[in-house]
Amino acid sequence: LMQLSVPLNFIGFIYREIRQGLTDIENMFDLLDVDQEVKDKPGATALQVAEGAIRFHDVHFSYDPARPILKGISFEVPAGKTVAIVGPSGAGKSTLSRLLFRFYDIQSGAITIDGQDVRDVTQKSLRGAIGMVPQDTVLFNDTIFYNIRYGRFDASEDEIRKAAELAQIGPFIEALPEGYRSMVGERGLKLSGGEKQRVAIARTILKAPPILILDEATSALDTHTEQEIQAALDLVSRGRTTLVIAHRLSTVISADEIIVLKDGRIAEKGTHRDLLDAKGLYADMWDRQREATEAEERLRIARETD
Ligand code: ADP
Ligand code: MG
Repeated sequence: LMQLSVPLNFIGFIYREIRQGLTDIENMFDLLDVDQEVKDKPGATALQVAEGAIRFHDVHFSYDPARPILKGISFEVPAGKTVAIVGPSGAGKSTLSRLLFRFYDIQSGAITIDGQDVRDVTQKSLRGAIGMVPQDTVLFNDTIFYNIRYGRFDASEDEIRKAAELAQIGPFIEALPEGYRSMVGERGLKLSGGEKQRVAIARTILKAPPILILDEATSALDTHTEQEIQAALDLVSRGRTTLVIAHRLSTVISADEIIVLKDGRIAEKGTHRDLLDAKGLYADMWDRQREATEAEERLRIARETD
């Protein structure tokens, strides 16, 4: 019996290893919502990023032909500028970022980067040029070093530490018993949403892509963590063409342009000031969020003085 149990345990071990590996990949695809149907076209060449200007030209898209999601979206993110996309949940905000990565092909219109259609370039070069800080970061069952290095595999330990500092997570990591060698992920240390997001920011700082997509975290973050993350995001987006998908309007005030998406169309666009003056959808959203934030603040003060 003893003889038999060893190999069985061993098989169990291998099985768990494999399964865990698969889980990482599945999570990754889930997260990125990858449709592997999209293929490079024959003779596709590498994307040449000069400035990194993004343009959506009259984009129509649906996951399912019966249900159009984007109904003629046109906008531009000039090189080095930040454009924020806001709007109700389900409006198609994350879809815009998936289309820029070309996880799906659009039904009509075009999406270009420096004038090159995303369908004409290799997916590898396209994805290499875009950094994404997702809403929900998946960590690998490995060390913090590995998880940050994932942004650029040839990065040195010093560069990794520097990136973590910039992402406002350095001191947190240093304070862990095993520091950067601490295991994280499902079998290691469980990090909070805000900590995982800062690991993703550190990854992106290492990758240093010309184009950035930030799909901001939702309500899971408290105001203090949000401010720290915001500082890290501001730093990484400086000088890069950035598309921010914003849930909290406090984070879009400084965007060069804000686009309000509703029912698959652009309902409004302009700067924060323009949109407040227009007293439309954005102004309503702003008022509602401010009331919610003030209520939250009053609650916090009441708790602290208890
Ligand atoms: P937002 O980020 O604005 O909340 P999304 O872009 O994620 O919205 O989704 C827009 C709409 O597309 C939603 O109604 C959503 O249910 C639908 N959708 C998202 N992903 C898929 C998918 N893979 N297949 C079918 N429908 C999807
Ligand atoms: Mg979304």
